[in-house]
Amino acid sequence: MDPRLAADLAALPELLESTRGYATGVLGGLDERPAAHPPVPHAAEPLPAEGTGLAAALATFAERWAPGFSGSAGPRYLGFVTGGATPAALAGDWLTGVFDQNGSSEVGSAGGELERETLGWLRELFGLGAGQSGAFVSGATMSNFVGLAIGREWLGERLGVDVARQGAHALGPVEVLSGAPHSSIYKALSMVGLGRDAVRQVPVRPGREAVDVAALRDALAARRGRPAIVVANAGTVNTVDFDDLRAIAALREEFPFWLHVDAAFGAFAALSPEHAPLLDGLAEADSVCVDLHKWLNVPYDSAVQYTRRPDLQARVFGNSAAYLGPLTERPDFLHLTPENSRRLRALATWFSLAAYGRAGHRDIVERNVASARRVGARLAELPGVRLLAPVRLNVVCLAVPGDPAEVARALADTGEAFVTPTVYAGTPALRLAFSNWRTAEADEERIVAAFRKVL
Ligand SMILES: *Cc1c(COP(=O)(O)O)cnc(C)c1O
Repeated sequence: MDPRLAADLAALPELLESTRGYATGVLGGLDERPAAHPPVPHAAEPLPAEGTGLAAALATFAERWAPGFSGSAGPRYLGFVTGGATPAALAGDWLTGVFDQNGSSEVGSAGGELERETLGWLRELFGLGAGQSGAFVSGATMSNFVGLAIGREWLGERLGVDVARQGAHALGPVEVLSGAPHSSIYKALSMVGLGRDAVRQVPVRPGREAVDVAALRDALAARRGRPAIVVANAGTVNTVDFDDLRAIAALREEFPFWLHVDAAFGAFAALSPEHAPLLDGLAEADSVCVDLHKWLNVPYDSAVQYTRRPDLQARVFGNSAAYLGPLTERPDFLHLTPENSRRLRALATWFSLAAYGRAGHRDIVERNVASARRVGARLAELPGVRLLAPVRLNVVCLAVPGDPAEVARALADTGEAFVTPTVYAGTPALRLAFSNWRTAEADEERIVAAFRKVL
């Protein structure tokens, strides 16, 4: 054994203890760590020929890299929809590496059963139907990818072609109808072979990001019986608007289409009785995307996908080889997901749900929504600031005096808050997304104070 490897093995308990101490220090300092850092170029060091052993590697990391890392695990990072990691999720993530299970198959490990139990818990949490089966993937983009790939296979079934064998070209032109699709839908369509141009954007309701269901009906009727894919949105990124899922699902009685719902973070509305009706109809979807590294507050990278047609899913993702075992009634995950080998990603989620349950995660959602409302209302009182949409859930979308990108940069320079620019209905704007379990009223004060300072 390499001498450094042997020395680290001999000193493993002490080394992990010091890593734990370092981690505790980082987490204890999150309140002071700047929410974001301007990128600083690092000259790449040469590949270490011999290596230094873990203790020295940790010291080098702590000195050379950690100071430039953002406070994205902390309470005032409001960019994108980021979330942090609950204590139990973090412990589960550490233990994922400790056990290092290959989540691809159930041969010789209970890992697959743990993933299925966790998927069942999440299905209940989001109010999905018993007929919707799922799998863990790395993020909402991959979840959308899987859902659209199954939709592609379903189109093939309707048209009498086997797309997994013949290729997407066998389908001819495909239409994907959606009101305000997330950018990842275009990316997923490119990956799945249907192409970005397959999207046909359907008008949204006036002043909203929710699809106009009558316009969707017209677009479907114009297809004269040819099957399509509909991507419904449950929680748009700018204004967290929700399509009327119940009404869209009902259109399937008249028109043939695969209903995919992108509920990346909107699915968490299900945890708040006040907002749960926004998801009415979600259980009717053919495929559903939910991100976990956002509002569940598990570490990157983690999401789930659900579908009613695991048989079509296995046609797309099945990977048969003698040494991998046959495709059974209950296929191993390697037959359902883009990856073959994969980490036991479910463990961090299992820990957080085991530790905090429905009530704990409901508390995170409700506190974040309350923060978004209060901060939105207070910022709207500042001169020249205007809410571009009501705060429907956890995102504040604001017009500010001056260039939003510059305001975002000035805010980041204070270290107090990180927000991201966007364009909503042609208006350059800022988004503040609340999704971190740590965000408290004291953080709201610091966020509002930072805005006062830079505006
Ligand atoms: C974040 C998000 C995605 C993409 O998620 P990743 O985890 O970054 O792949 C897709 N759809 C919606 C609505 C999102 O908010």
